[in-house]
Amino acid sequence: MDIPRIFNITESAHRIHNPITPEKLATLGRALRLEPGARVLDLGSGSGEMLCTWARDHGITGTGIDLSMLFTEHARNRAEELGVADRVKFIHGDAAGYVAEEKVDVAACVGATWIGGGVAGTIALLERSLRAGGIILIGEPYWRRLPPTEDAAKKCEANSISDFLLLPELIASFGRLGYDVVEMVLADEDGWDRYEAAKWLTMRRWLDANPEDEMVPQIRAELTSGPERYAAYTREYLGWGVFALMRRVEPRAQ
Ligand code: SAH
Repeated sequence: MDIPRIFNITESAHRIHNPITPEKLATLGRALRLEPGARVLDLGSGSGEMLCTWARDHGITGTGIDLSMLFTEHARNRAEELGVADRVKFIHGDAAGYVAEEKVDVAACVGATWIGGGVAGTIALLERSLRAGGIILIGEPYWRRLPPTEDAAKKCEANSISDFLLLPELIASFGRLGYDVVEMVLADEDGWDRYEAAKWLTMRRWLDANPEDEMVPQIRAELTSGPERYAAYTREYLGWGVFALMRRVEPRAQ
């Protein structure tokens, strides 16, 4: 049980598998005003950078679940490296349907909302692990500008324009689901470069080291065409952010 091998190759050197930078991840941790001992659940925790650094910086405890064996191993190593292995736990497995045994203060899915079948389904899944008054974190792309054609959307790694919303629409969609957006940290082009451009050196080194591998044609094609496509499309059109949500409570009838 694992994710498609292409990601384990192209993102093997990433600590953060999203366009958020270490600085912005730290900003998000501060913005949430995390208390020491706060419990955080992270579905699709990748290489564990969010939980490990927040455990170091804010004293949170956390559990991450990720389908990549490689990323999970990296997350456990990172926890050891930062001296927080007693506070964060990383489980290798499918996070679809995962519900924490003990309710958490923060329930997150940062850049992996397919786990719950989309944003609404993922919020519903996270809600099952969340204490009353807790915070849900959703990391999700949005269009900074609408791509002019469906073909342009595909070049931004989307299946179609309808996959993503414009930022105000995405924010409004959280409201329609019954949530206040109480914080947000948005990626910028530099953050996209850290996520996307970091794949290129990884791919180049992998190609040099694995000339006989069956994935060579695919990785070679991606390294040849990826940088230009990225500069023309994803970098121009696609935004990304982490949104902190709290369930709206209806005022009690007088
Ligand atoms: N939140 C992390 C990782 C985001 S990338 C970060 O910001 O760095 C998306 C992650 O989802 C990858 O690590 C991938 O391995 C994981 N993933 C994909 N499908 C999954 C599933 N069904 N269950 C758990 N993790 C999954």
